[in-house]
Amino acid sequence: GDALAVSARVAPLGSRLVLLLVEDLTEARRIEAVRRDFVANVSHELKTPVGALSLLSEAVMDAADDPEAVERFAGRMQIEATRLTNLVQELIDLSRVQNDDPLEDAEPVRVDELVTEAIDRCRHQAGTKQITMATNMAAPEGLEQGGGGRRAGGTADLHIWGNRGQLAAALGNLVENAVNYSPARTRVGIAARRVSAPGGDLIEIAVTDQGIGISDRDKERIFERFYRVDPARSRATGGTGLGLAIVKHVAASHGGEVTVWSSEGQGSTFTLRLPEAGAARDRGPSPTGIT
Ligand code: ADP
Repeated sequence: GDALAVSARVAPLGSRLVLLLVEDLTEARRIEAVRRDFVANVSHELKTPVGALSLLSEAVMDAADDPEAVERFAGRMQIEATRLTNLVQELIDLSRVQNDDPLEDAEPVRVDELVTEAIDRCRHQAGTKQITMATNMAAPEGLEQGGGGRRAGGTADLHIWGNRGQLAAALGNLVENAVNYSPARTRVGIAARRVSAPGGDLIEIAVTDQGIGISDRDKERIFERFYRVDPARSRATGGTGLGLAIVKHVAASHGGEVTVWSSEGQGSTFTLRLPEAGAARDRGPSPTGIT
């Protein structure tokens, strides 16, 4: 009687164990496939500029007695070299955000400093396209509207709990994209405010552009590594397809999130929600959500 009771109890446990093992294997296979895709993608992305550089250097040698042609080819070599540098830098950034625990050296990071740094990073690009960059940092009260804020003050009063370098990379990528995927003479807006949330206050930073927008189908995929809606356009602006993957990792590992609203042909808004410095400390360390 006892033996029967035991085996009856063990049997469902056993099948659950098998199920767990199968799930584990499927997950392991999925991770392996993602890794293989990633290596294939990186190889392809590296090959493109390297191949172009090799062809261009041949062209320079053939055109040795034509200074104008040499200058033209050299200019294109410079563009390809920059692309290569960008890609390598972004790969380093990506591996850093994937491997490091960003909260290990977390500190209160001033939002206004992050915003200024992000704008500085693409000031040149915005200037050549005559894109206006607008922030709400100059309007102390406006920041608190609708945000459920309890303290007065401007963006200088807002702090995120996190890794300064990673947060700067995340916001920088969003602002850079806003400029890159917008036509000339449009406006890029950056708005920051404090919002109440059940687990503690959050800092919300929204980057809004009047650019080409993103279709509903593409919205689901743009945060994947190397996914681009229009690879040619992305490359033309020095894009690597890694920017939003980095943003997503930074947001998740800080216990926050990044979301997108977009209307094709009208523009996009990317919103980062991250734990406020005070709130995060009250809560203790937030769980990392890296996938
Ligand atoms: P990239 O280096 O190509 O910009 P990202 O990972 O930053 O890579 O973005 C992935 C893709 O998402 C881009 O290639 C582009 O198609 C689309 N995208 C990103 N930001 C915007 C935006 N603000 N407006 C329209 N499309 C965007």
